[in-house]
Amino acid sequence: MAENSENEMLNAICREAKAEGKLSGKNLTNLYELFGQRFTKALETLKENRVKKYLFKPSGRTVWIVVGLERDYLIMCQAEFCTCDDFYFRVLDRKVHLCYHLIAQKIARNLAWYETFEENDELYETLMNEWKKPTP
Ligand SMILES: [Zn+2]
Repeated sequence: MAENSENEMLNAICREAKAEGKLSGKNLTNLYELFGQRFTKALETLKENRVKKYLFKPSGRTVWIVVGLERDYLIMCQAEFCTCDDFYFRVLDRKVHLCYHLIAQKIARNLAWYETFEENDELYETLMNEWKKPTP
């Protein structure tokens, strides 16, 4: 359905961008047509380098975070899940599948446009609790 195709199209564009090592003009146009304002916000996020990857050692667990204006958002990429309200309400309404954090994270991951932080496994629970907190 529409939700799937949105995701599939994003994946296809990401594959192309990864092969090229950049977002081409055509990629940008397609992404904007696909996501509109959500892509504009995702692009801002990427330009401001707000996608972070946390690598926990020694387990090797990874967690993706998108730093937002008021809080950080936790992205579960396998589940294509985000902790933002936008994601929560829109998915409940079945309006759209991907929030701009997920769009930004996918592009960042494919183009290596992210910062990596290494943390000790001992901090995993503490940080996860912090990231999972609902919006105040
Ligand atoms: Zn989100």
